[in-house]
Amino acid sequence: CGIVGYVGEEQAAPILLDGLAKLEYRGYDSAGIAVYDGKEIEMKKSKGRLKVLNELTHDGATLPGTVGIGHTRWATHGEPSDINAHPQFNKNESIVVVHNGIIENYLKLKNKLISKGYEFISDTDTEVIAHLLDYYYSGNPLRAITKIMHRMEGSYALGIMFKDHPDELYAVRKDSPLIVGKAESGSIIASDVPAVLKYTRDVYFIENEEIVRLTEDTLEFFNVDEEQIQKEAAHIDWDV
Ligand code: GLU
Repeated sequence: CGIVGYVGEEQAAPILLDGLAKLEYRGYDSAGIAVYDGKEIEMKKSKGRLKVLNELTHDGATLPGTVGIGHTRWATHGEPSDINAHPQFNKNESIVVVHNGIIENYLKLKNKLISKGYEFISDTDTEVIAHLLDYYYSGNPLRAITKIMHRMEGSYALGIMFKDHPDELYAVRKDSPLIVGKAESGSIIASDVPAVLKYTRDVYFIENEEIVRLTEDTLEFFNVDEEQIQKEAAHIDWDV
């Protein structure tokens, strides 16, 4: 139900936990974060309140790294549980995903992936996204994302990290909200404005089927044909 992501010069985990706290008002049954230090993508997630996640990670201190994604889940497919909480990994933990929304044709995709040898450990529709990215990935994140967009039906806002692109974060959405902002120390994604206001008031509202590549210093926007597009930031002058 809530998404945050950060890439920059600061430690990601405390920023993710703070962002998730700002989205708590939307309701959730579990929460998790994944942070990348350039060596391994480390993940902690749990059923229950954010307080549990804060304790598990010592307020983020046990997950060092400057790139990361976080999620608060409102279960639609699979009961609330540690395993079904997001983030969700591909098989060798080189691609990791957080997702808001529902993949309507997940069962069809899941059966196809199982027939190709993929093994599922959760009951979520979201795990299909991680394995589908894996299936289409051959070194070009943008290409893999546009490929899965052609295959998925339903609604999604996604935050995605690729292990072999350590300084980048990807985001895409369809029928589920997502915004992007440029902070002083890095770049940030979120499913709603309150999570970013501490860092910036200039916000890009991602439109349906737009993809974003974020680095510490840059935000680049693409359409489903992998063409770069220009977007204008909206200035938020209200308080939440
Ligand atoms: N459909 C996904 C799940 O049940 C995402 C739910 C959400 O938006 O939090 O895991």
